[in-house]
Amino acid sequence: MNPQAQPSVAIIGAGLTGLTAAYRLHGRGFRVKVFERWAQAGGAIRTHREGGWLAECGPNSVQFGAPELKQLVADLGLEGEIAVANETAKKRFIVRGGRFIPAPMGPGSFFATPLFGLGTKLSIFTELFSRPRVRNTDVSLAELVRCHYTQELVDYAVNPLIAGIYAGDPEKLSVKHAFPSVWEAERLKGSLPRGMMAVMKARRPPGEKRPKGGTPLISFRLGLQQLIDTLVARLPPGTVELNTALDTLIPGRPHRLVCSRGAEKCGGEFDHVILAVPAPALAQITFGTLAERPLATLDSIVHPPVASLFLGFKREQVAHPLDGFGGLTPEKERRDVLGILFSSTLFPGRAPDGHVALTVFAGGMRQPEHARLGTPQLIERVRKDLAELVGVTGDPVYVKHSFWPRAIPQYTLGYDRYLDAMNRLEERTPNLFIGGQCRDGISLPDCLKSGERLARRVAEAAAKA
Ligand SMILES: Cc1cc2nc3c(=O)[nH]c(=O)nc-3n(C[C@H](O)[C@H](O)[C@H](O)COP(=O)(O)OP(=O)(O)OC[C@H]3O[C@@H](n4cnc5c(N)ncnc54)[C@H](O)[C@@H]3O)c2cc1C
Repeated sequence: MNPQAQPSVAIIGAGLTGLTAAYRLHGRGFRVKVFERWAQAGGAIRTHREGGWLAECGPNSVQFGAPELKQLVADLGLEGEIAVANETAKKRFIVRGGRFIPAPMGPGSFFATPLFGLGTKLSIFTELFSRPRVRNTDVSLAELVRCHYTQELVDYAVNPLIAGIYAGDPEKLSVKHAFPSVWEAERLKGSLPRGMMAVMKARRPPGEKRPKGGTPLISFRLGLQQLIDTLVARLPPGTVELNTALDTLIPGRPHRLVCSRGAEKCGGEFDHVILAVPAPALAQITFGTLAERPLATLDSIVHPPVASLFLGFKREQVAHPLDGFGGLTPEKERRDVLGILFSSTLFPGRAPDGHVALTVFAGGMRQPEHARLGTPQLIERVRKDLAELVGVTGDPVYVKHSFWPRAIPQYTLGYDRYLDAMNRLEERTPNLFIGGQCRDGISLPDCLKSGERLARRVAEAAAKA
């Protein structure tokens, strides 16, 4: 078959979403080109290796449960490269009264934990008898949990958890959009844990059992970047054009793209276009000869800044046994860090022998000003928390500081209006597809599934043409 006869697809953004779509479309015989603004592929995924340290600058781990992720890892031949999180990483800490307390992992430890008082413990039991509830309007995660349990559970479980996942504020996040399975759980059963079990069961492929001990957390031997590098390596050479940003899309059959590579203009004509870039970038793209910005409204999606500070210490500088995943801080505890990850416990090969690595997250919705500090100021700012929570003494022997000015989109109440804007643009522009973290969920499995879905939609559109 003449390769020029195969439909062409331009994918904007070489993050996990865009590269998954590119890999799947290439596998289906499409001519694929990926345009990436930055000098390297991966988007938020970036691993830095130096002198025996392996630092994740963005995401650190991924839940290895979604069948799409397992299939992609298998198709890429990466199964032998998986690094499964250490068993001890199941233990997680939450700060209360100025110290790390292990978070309860089961009913027994829940009733014994000093993290929660009797009222919260009883509410866990009585909530099991809640009746199904269909809400007409969206609700914040904090409001929903208060309604089912107690304010204490919001303060000491939900608040730190949301700081860890979204760098966000549970009072602002929409249950319907940020936690659709919780929304569904309440509709189905009333009780959230009973409903979640029903939702999970319905989602599992027939015959598959719930994994014992929960969904494993993984990375790869060379860090998450290994997934990105492998995806890029499986595409024909030259498929990914780095340092190239889409400025304008002129819709038509084919679509015409105008891109910038430094001062130079480039682009081309493509049968299909996928936009897999974050919301602030979608908002900037102009459309047509009149340079309309139909997604301008997406610029108002809140993206708090986050600093990720990977710190290496000699083992003897850290008193804590680091026997866990790490710890999170509730806002009520007034700490300077959102959380501390015990990186060298989590996965092997993160620190040279005789050393340990911690990753500190700061900023987020809670203290955006902390995220913007320079490296020495940030180290000073988190020193007290490191000393009090994990017994760190002295200066780190290794530092890798990453700053994400607009880190994670907050799926706040009223998020429908942003989804509507994307839906409307797709409806009026045949063969244009939008996906990624601001539409399909922020986790890496969500983004990967988004890439798979985008590839399927392109293939379906091409089959109809
Ligand atoms: C600090 C941090 C920690 C995180 N931790 C975790 C975690 O532990 N586990 C987890 O599951 N998730 C985590 N996440 C979330 C997850 O990493 C992201 O949601 C996901 O990687 C987004 O993938 P994406 O491909 O949709 O977008 P991105 O990774 O943002 O990729 C989009 C790409 O588009 C490019 N681009 C933008 N504009 C243009 C343009 N005009 N033209 C061309 N290219 C353009 C960008 O340069 C970028 O490379 C974390 C995120 C951050 C920031």
